Amino acid sequence: MNFELEEKHKLVRRSVRSFAEKVLAPLAPIMDREEEFYPEIIKEISMMNLWGITIPERYGGAELDFISYLISIEEISRICASTGLTVSVHNAVGALPLYKWGNEEQKERFLNDLASGKKIAGFSWTEPNAGSDARSIECMAEEDGKDFVLNGSKIFVTNGAIASVFLVGTRYQTIDRQKGFTLVIVEKDMVGCEIGPKENKMGMRGNPTTSLYFNNVRVPKENVLGKLQNGFKYAMQMLDFGRIGIAAQALGIAQAAYEHSVKYSKGRIQFNKPISQFQGVSFKLAEMATKIDAARLLVYRAGYMSEQNKSFSKEAAMCKLFASKVARQVTQEALQIHGGYGYMKDLPIERYYRDAKACEIYEGTSEIMKLIIANQILRGNI
Ligand SMILES: Cc1cc2nc3c(=O)[nH]c(=O)nc-3n(C[C@H](O)[C@H](O)[C@H](O)COP(=O)(O)OP(=O)(O)OC[C@H]3O[C@@H](n4cnc5c(N)ncnc54)[C@H](O)[C@@H]3O)c2cc1C
Repeated sequence: MNFELEEKHKLVRRSVRSFAEKVLAPLAPIMDREEEFYPEIIKEISMMNLWGITIPERYGGAELDFISYLISIEEISRICASTGLTVSVHNAVGALPLYKWGNEEQKERFLNDLASGKKIAGFSWTEPNAGSDARSIECMAEEDGKDFVLNGSKIFVTNGAIASVFLVGTRYQTIDRQKGFTLVIVEKDMVGCEIGPKENKMGMRGNPTTSLYFNNVRVPKENVLGKLQNGFKYAMQMLDFGRIGIAAQALGIAQAAYEHSVKYSKGRIQFNKPISQFQGVSFKLAEMATKIDAARLLVYRAGYMSEQNKSFSKEAAMCKLFASKVARQVTQEALQIHGGYGYMKDLPIERYYRDAKACEIYEGTSEIMKLIIANQILRGNI
């Protein structure tokens, strides 16, 4: 067993870290304050070839492994979690499923544009009445000649305002709760497709979340992803990949809060000594470091398993559950270590705290992660 990263992974970390510190660091607080995604980021991420991290070179991707993807998301999120979310969703639940289940014609049509950042992708399953209960979606896809006609509305779509390609969860022809789930590739310019206003969020404010409305949108049949009525299975598998990326995001946020806390506690003098010399503070640092290390091991383990073609649903859920909780706890303690200054918007600590919370909600809440883990255990995957 080897706990060392390979040279190629260290190289990815060094280059993405240096990019994030140079390019993203000045923009992160502005995007958070103004609740605005900066379009120049798309070009900068393209120059780093991070829009199709695991996509083969023949479709314009970087053809790196999944661990490289996780390290990239971790490093971007260490500086700007909103951008980490943008890149993570685009890669794991946008480009990757198109590569995995798309036919050759779809790959040719979409992957080059997605891998180059010419087009940004979103994944849209959640609806006003269907959150954790993912089987209760109502968005209908009805066959009509050469098309499907889509009707329904979606909410909380990450990348909503910047994406032009959406993988949309629909029900094919039926309102039966157990049947018909079909993933359809919707392009934002299709007639009848409307993108709602940006949500006003607590955190991740540099990523534009919107609703999506479909009013008799005619989607050609060639835009069905994979097989008809297999959409639920695909969505659950996509989310297994996606969740490891969300855990990597949480890890990056926690790492940033921890590094700031070590530095601040060594420089902040109270009672004539650095506050790091008070056990009440240094024990917090020890807890942070330990939790982050444990989270990182779970994240990389799940990433490793996904590459071995082994079942990794349980491991993906475990790493998301744990890393997102660690991010919430670590950012909360970081705020405490920074005292009143941590509560002010001049420092990034309160942003980390707000950003971290989202990781316990999207791509399945922590309660749903526990359901997945428990189901696996009780089915014999101990
Ligand atoms: C910032 C953000 C971005 C998002 N991006 C996307 C996106 O790009 N695409 C997309 O499709 N969705 C997206 N979502 C939606 C997200 O996946 C859902 O919010 C999430 O799955 C929870 O659904 P809900 O909000 O309807 O909460 P609900 O399902 O109503 O849950 C409310 C509470 O009840 C709990 N609960 C529900 N069922 C159970 C149960 N069986 N056992 C125990 N507890 C339960 C939940 O854990 C939660 O605490 C995003 C959400 C946010 C906040």
